[in-house]
Amino acid sequence: MAKRDYYEILGMEKNADKRDIKKSYRKLALKYHPDKNPSKEAEEKFKEISEAYAVLSDEKKRQMYDQYGHAGIDQQYSSEDIFRGADFGDIFRGTGFDMNDIFSQFFGGNRGFSNQQRHYRGADLRYDIQIKLEDAYHGLEQNIRVPRTEACDRCHGTGAKPGTKPKTCPQCRGNGQVKQTRRTAFGMFTQVAPCNKCGGLGEVIEKKCPKCNGRKTMKVTRSIKLKIPKGVDDGSQLRLHGEGESGPGGTGDLYIVVHVKKHNIFNRHGSDLHKKQIISFPEAALGTKKSISTIGDSRETLKIPEGTQHGDIIKIKRAGMPKLRGSGLGDLYVEIQVETPTKLNKKSKKLFMELQNELN
Ligand SMILES: [Zn+2]
Ligand SMILES: [Zn+2]
Repeated sequence: MAKRDYYEILGMEKNADKRDIKKSYRKLALKYHPDKNPSKEAEEKFKEISEAYAVLSDEKKRQMYDQYGHAGIDQQYSSEDIFRGADFGDIFRGTGFDMNDIFSQFFGGNRGFSNQQRHYRGADLRYDIQIKLEDAYHGLEQNIRVPRTEACDRCHGTGAKPGTKPKTCPQCRGNGQVKQTRRTAFGMFTQVAPCNKCGGLGEVIEKKCPKCNGRKTMKVTRSIKLKIPKGVDDGSQLRLHGEGESGPGGTGDLYIVVHVKKHNIFNRHGSDLHKKQIISFPEAALGTKKSISTIGDSRETLKIPEGTQHGDIIKIKRAGMPKLRGSGLGDLYVEIQVETPTKLNKKSKKLFMELQNELN
């Protein structure tokens, strides 16, 4: 697919100034940010506008683009280089979005922005758990087993045989990068590429750790005590700090995604519950009291007034779900369903006919 014009992507004129470009990018980025808008299209769109912004906000890159178009940029910069040095820092200040996280997702692994490839943080993990509505009412404590990658305990994550150390890579002298000068249609360009001897790590392992075979990490299944709070809703996420994969720069987080199963009696709407209650014809006409069970396993009295109609809703206060934020309980809404008798015996039929005559 042909690349669109960077100015067009940001809805700018060629002579737009830096401030306008920034403003336009910020507006679009907040709209298509993957945290806000998790579709694939939005992600692509977000990449596209970010790339346009990275180029147009950098004077050198913008000049190159103005002069040679996409070819000028693509010849000289790798997709990482395009973003490197771009000033995204204050764009999202105060919005809670972390650009480094986003770009490392986009560029695979944890490289992306930073030159310090050796110090990436471990990946975040996701664990899905299904619970019953009753568990969401009472809250739940449960042990879960989560596999994750940790530093090898034999070599402490160096990958080298205990007693030996990884050596500084002789090819890149520990930089992890090498400069390559290329001749192109636009002249000589120097490009920085990851060192192929050490894979960008800046060090080589001569004697490998026998346990992890130089991989530095191992798979461990950990048991984690999970506390699910009262009132948790379907789709809620709990973040367990530092329980994700471990990396040289720290561990990622573990996200618990809670799924609450559908209940066969209660329907949930936020912290309120809805249920149906069948009553008889005479009960609807004369009124009655019924003891009904609640989600919290207690009993409540449902007062059905005289002349209740089919479809009437009776509210029982504080018989719903706990409120996740703040305190207290939601309400229970009982929808009355009046059952019309179908198989009448002689006596009942006679009584109904008398009643009919009476009411006419
Ligand atoms: Zn090891
Ligand atoms: Zn190297």
